[in-house]
Amino acid sequence: MKKRGYYGNFGGAFLPEILIATFDELEAQFEKIKQDPKFWDTYVQLMSSYSCRPTPLTFARNLTNYFGGAKIYIKREDLNHTGAHKLNNVMGQGLLVQKMGKQRVIAETGAGQHGVACATMAAKFGFDCTIYMGEIDVIRQRPNVFWMEQLGATVIPVTNGTRILKDAINEAFRDWVSNMDTTHYVLGTACGPHPFPEMVTYFQSIIGQEARKQILEIEGKLPKRVYACVGGGSNAMGLFSGFLNDPVELVGVEAGGKGLASGLHASRLSSDDASPGVAQGYKTYFLQDDDGQMKETHSISAGLDYVGVSPILADMHDKGLARFESATDEKVIAALKLTMQKEGIIPALESSHAFAQAFEEAPQLSKDEIIIINQSGRGDKDIFTVADALDDPKWKKFIKTKAEEYHA
Ligand SMILES: *Cc1c(COP(=O)(O)O)cnc(C)c1O
Repeated sequence: MKKRGYYGNFGGAFLPEILIATFDELEAQFEKIKQDPKFWDTYVQLMSSYSCRPTPLTFARNLTNYFGGAKIYIKREDLNHTGAHKLNNVMGQGLLVQKMGKQRVIAETGAGQHGVACATMAAKFGFDCTIYMGEIDVIRQRPNVFWMEQLGATVIPVTNGTRILKDAINEAFRDWVSNMDTTHYVLGTACGPHPFPEMVTYFQSIIGQEARKQILEIEGKLPKRVYACVGGGSNAMGLFSGFLNDPVELVGVEAGGKGLASGLHASRLSSDDASPGVAQGYKTYFLQDDDGQMKETHSISAGLDYVGVSPILADMHDKGLARFESATDEKVIAALKLTMQKEGIIPALESSHAFAQAFEEAPQLSKDEIIIINQSGRGDKDIFTVADALDDPKWKKFIKTKAEEYHA
């Protein structure tokens, strides 16, 4: 066991002996590309020709007028290829894999969004791709599994343990141990052993770099506050990275689920229910019981439903460098509805957490103050969940009719 990559009390790399050489190689390659300005140029070029970079910063005029407070801007990560910020990370790691001369990538996925992004990257670069996914998630997320397979990836349902995300992560590590020479593990968020939290943040920092430049061009001044939802923490770290040296308040919004008092949530930094611990190769705040057993989490958005959180955010939390709030499922659906109707924009359920918190605070700010909300992804993937939450009778009828067609 080796200790490195700490952020205050958090982070590190708690690795089995056998993986240490692989992590050394990864860390060395990452240090090399960080020093090489040409690598970043290649990355930006790739993202502007294959994804939609720079993504726009949209002034939400109608929402601004509706709340009557701060000017509301939206950073449009939903306009990335595959519909979310996740592509920033996987394409960056894809370039790194190419540099390392490996031909195979593996990944874990819970909701399936990272799996789809990774399968997309593998197709584009010509890599073999295996995605590990808990058996329960495979059943729940059939549309994403369908696309991963169509994109050429092999999806392996994990039948160990509770058959969800954390079991998929364990299985991916097991694969990596047996195939280190040919394979890279594309971790999906700013978590896990060093150098992943820093590396994923590095690729996602393109969000904050662009947003800072854009708001200075449009408004000639910095925002008062910026908001991002927090699952593992990659889109939040991406946005926050642009404003770390500025007098800008950084607000991370976690899944409040059915309310903090209910225990049915995924709020690690905005509740008192999580405590520091080591799991999955790193140290952070985990939602765990006194024996270190991981608790059940709940969120209406699959992408925020995770027991751990980025060690970098955990450190920022303890040092008071960022503020963390939680938004309940109910408030999230209300924020989503309002954004659709006022702006013609459909945020992902994950992103809608950031919108919900910003909407609570915007009316208390003055009209010459500015806030930026990170729209980490687009919401059309959430049609099943949102239609259920809104109890839409026409949608129910459609599903029934489809089911009957298959029975006939
Ligand atoms: C995966 C996902 C998230 C959560 O992941 P982070 O690493 O916390 O950014 C948030 N929004 C969308 C749209 C996602 O797909």
